[in-house]
Amino acid sequence: MAATILDGNRIASAIRAEVASEVKKMTAAGVRPGLAVVLVGHNPASEIYVRGKVKSSQEVGIYSEQHTPSENVSTVQLLDLIADLNRRDEIDGILVQLPLPAHVDSKKILLSLDPAKDVDGFHPMNVGFLSTQRPGLVPCTPAGIIEILNRSHIPIAGREAVVVGRSDIVGKPVAMLLINANGTVTVCHSKTHDLPAVCRRADILVAAIGRAGMITRDFVKPGATVIDVGMNKVTDHGEFERIFAGNAKREETFRAKGSVLVGDVHPEVTEVAGAITPVPGGVGPLTIAMLMANTVRAAKLRRGMLEPQVR
Ligand code: NAP
Repeated sequence: MAATILDGNRIASAIRAEVASEVKKMTAAGVRPGLAVVLVGHNPASEIYVRGKVKSSQEVGIYSEQHTPSENVSTVQLLDLIADLNRRDEIDGILVQLPLPAHVDSKKILLSLDPAKDVDGFHPMNVGFLSTQRPGLVPCTPAGIIEILNRSHIPIAGREAVVVGRSDIVGKPVAMLLINANGTVTVCHSKTHDLPAVCRRADILVAAIGRAGMITRDFVKPGATVIDVGMNKVTDHGEFERIFAGNAKREETFRAKGSVLVGDVHPEVTEVAGAITPVPGGVGPLTIAMLMANTVRAAKLRRGMLEPQVR
């Protein structure tokens, strides 16, 4: 039987509606959550992401502003900008779009953010809060993955979860969230021996690798839930054929655009898995929705308006 498709667009839209209703109440009470986005230079992918974040903020009623220093901004100038945003009370969330230009000391910039306004959840203080189960801000994509599982009524407690990928942005924080939710968690990476065998242990398999269609059916236990975080642009025809041969709809897209967006999970996995997130339309939409949720959470946490809820 084909896997149930976990519809990220539907879940993200429910979260955005909840956020919008919360923002409306807070604004009426005189506290409108505010998000500042810092975009350095003209990286086309970053410009698209930032546009999406600003648009989404406007849709849910969050105050947002964009800061766009030029490509040759210095580390000191950026530190000054962050210090100013840290000081301003109407700004609850600060997001510095990565990557920063090579000459900028990215680690120094991210460390300079007030952890209470760090809506990306990358500050070491928030990483520590997550690993010690204290209330803080959790990275958006991993938090979105947990929302998908919870809202799809997929239990985590007591089950085997395998995460492929150990990045600070996805792999490690999602592993920590799964541990906090009482999953039994294994984290894999490029040096893991017999990766398919380890993955086949998983009731919940999270692929955050960055390799198109790498997770094939032999990695998946029948009936497992598969979360595909990968977002890979495939432009090579041979690669396209390996993944999508015979898929008329994708072939049409490939012919028209010269590329397709592909996850880390091969489409054949839908024949084995119990449930699976599609690409596009799975984890991706949750990332911006959780940024909105984090901005509201930051606004409340800073003002003591929230019961400290640990993730
Ligand atoms: P990353 O920093 O490059 O990390 C990739 C991880 O995969 C590393 O831990 C690496 O292992 C592991 N890996 C690479 N090749 C492997 C192999 N052959 N076998 C086993 N493990 C392997 O990537 P990331 O930032 O976590 O992103 C992962 C993917 O998710 C990308 O496609 C990215 O575009 C996507 N993403 C999507 C969203 C979203 O909103 N949907 C958000 C963020 C990222 P080592 O540590 O040993 O090198």
